Amino acid sequence: MVNPEKNLSFETTKIAAALFDAAKAEKNEIFLTDLNGVLLFSNAVAEKNFPNLKVGTPVFTFLRAPLLKKTFDNVRDGAVETAETRFIIRGTIERNMHAELIRIQEEKESFIHIRLHDETEQVKAATAQRDFVANVSHELRTPLASIAGFVETLRGPAKEDEEAREKFLEIMAAQADRMNALIQSLLSLSRLELNQHTAPTTKLRLKAIVTDAATALAPLAEKKQITVKTALSFAETEEILGDKDELFRVFQNLIENAIKYSPEETQVTVIGEKIDKNLVITVRDQGFGIAPEHLPRLTERFYRVDEARNRAVGGAGLGLSIVHRIILRHKGKLDIESEVGKGSDFKVSLPL
Ligand code: ADP
Repeated sequence: MVNPEKNLSFETTKIAAALFDAAKAEKNEIFLTDLNGVLLFSNAVAEKNFPNLKVGTPVFTFLRAPLLKKTFDNVRDGAVETAETRFIIRGTIERNMHAELIRIQEEKESFIHIRLHDETEQVKAATAQRDFVANVSHELRTPLASIAGFVETLRGPAKEDEEAREKFLEIMAAQADRMNALIQSLLSLSRLELNQHTAPTTKLRLKAIVTDAATALAPLAEKKQITVKTALSFAETEEILGDKDELFRVFQNLIENAIKYSPEETQVTVIGEKIDKNLVITVRDQGFGIAPEHLPRLTERFYRVDEARNRAVGGAGLGLSIVHRIILRHKGKLDIESEVGKGSDFKVSLPL
């Protein structure tokens, strides 16, 4: 890797040799340059991530990062001996990098050792955490503001108006329910996150759970003149390892969505089959359907396809992320097929 013509003394010095050895074993990208930024050495990881690197050419032709260059200049000019900085490498995949630079003074020459550390995952996790908190606050703020508004109205202008009072109290109760549902969902999510790596160990009969979930939603379906049909072709005695409440929640959620996102007088069908070593339950609706670009994101927390329609039916976009997590915990699979204007299939496969 070393350019012998350019830097004969380099390879022979003790510190450089030690640095080379250390760099070879590193999982991070290492570059060694002279004070002009000309590359003297790079390790295998660096070469893999920057295939155009060439010993003997300025490293900043490949590592185009003004912040890194500025830090490099500081170290080179002797303002500091070590320095660190953070920068972003843009490209097909964006990478958040942390760089540590050290100036190494040898007898005859000085070098600069650059070590990059990819922080993309940490940055993503931190962003997700921030987004999550922002989403929760946003979801709580709307019903809370509505309740606060009605309290004001009831205290003031509507003080003596009995009819208005009844109406407002009803809206306030609905908003309180919405906040309650949100908090329940958040608690479920955090519980699931806590035991996502411990698979359930109780043997359960799945047919009864699916049937119960369908029955529980009959009243909601009736309001929209939707019929919920079950066609479960596997035996009552078929068992899987599972958590009863969690699985109930999966089918309750899917059937509820099928009802919520369908026009009146349509049909929801819950199909159950035994396929190979799995029990496969499909919740099929004749509803609004979902455009393909949304499908991969449906199980993200707070993801909603159509905010306006969703506001009307009142979900926070947490249902499917809970469903997805429960299914993963059960070592199962969720497949979604949908066509706008025709309907959707939510297919849950659970291992027997
Ligand atoms: P929510 O609690 O808001 O319903 P979900 O996580 O359950 O959230 O669903 C996410 C989004 O997926 C919903 O906003 C809705 O737009 C869409 N969706 C879910 N199920 C269906 C379905 N059966 N038909 C059409 N759209 C659906």
